[in-house]
Amino acid sequence: MAIKIIYLLGLGHSGTTLLGRLLGAHSQVIATGGTKNIPLFVKGRKTCACGATAPTECQLWSAVEERLKTRDLSLSDLQFGYDNQNNLNHDALKRYFESVLEASGAQAIVDTSRRRSYFAELEKVPGVELIPVHLFKDPRAQFSSAKRKNGNLFASVWSYNLRGRRVRGMQPAGRPVLHLSYESLCRDPMGQIARIMEAAGLPFEPDQVTHYGASELHIIGGNRQRHDTSSAIRLDESWRRRLTPMEQKLAIWLGGRSYRKNLTLSES
Ligand SMILES: [Zn+2]
Repeated sequence: MAIKIIYLLGLGHSGTTLLGRLLGAHSQVIATGGTKNIPLFVKGRKTCACGATAPTECQLWSAVEERLKTRDLSLSDLQFGYDNQNNLNHDALKRYFESVLEASGAQAIVDTSRRRSYFAELEKVPGVELIPVHLFKDPRAQFSSAKRKNGNLFASVWSYNLRGRRVRGMQPAGRPVLHLSYESLCRDPMGQIARIMEAAGLPFEPDQVTHYGASELHIIGGNRQRHDTSSAIRLDESWRRRLTPMEQKLAIWLGGRSYRKNLTLSES
């Protein structure tokens, strides 16, 4: 049986935690956060959304560890971080993904590693079927997140345009990339999630949108959104007050072209 992975591409603060939760709330899907975060969890530098600070404290991750053992592996062996991205062990990844599916009883995994280069590595894992989903935001919202974190506006523009161009240029061997804006996800979560589930070959469950906050969660990494237990989906438009009118214009001037290109792909 193929190892199905819904892989979320995009920048940090583009809504991937929310999208990962909506997909992971499906009865046959398990959201793990980014596969690249697993070593950080094992080393105690990231926590599970359930509150566990080590795999032994978590129901899911201790079950994954048991399944890994039957495949002569342990979570502590897995060097899946960005820092080792060029030397990933594809066979270990395969055994890891199989263990996650077995431990959770799910048919698909959501991976929010986000980088295109990491995606290219997962394409080399035998037996994997990737469903790439590109999530992007209005550049004003993206730059507003950078400003909130005291980031450099120009560096943020640079990443925004570069990531957009790289992802638009992708030609995966398997399924084509499904492009989706954060704004349309918030305006029409039912329609957009149904679209992704169809691409993943699984029946859409309305509950995954209406009650996603109540779903058990074991993602590693992710932002503060992962601790929100409500199932409300609100479009965050705080950029309207956080950015000055001049910064808003600058964001559109510098990132608007990339945004429109992404939008065109998301509508086709
Ligand atoms: Zn957990």
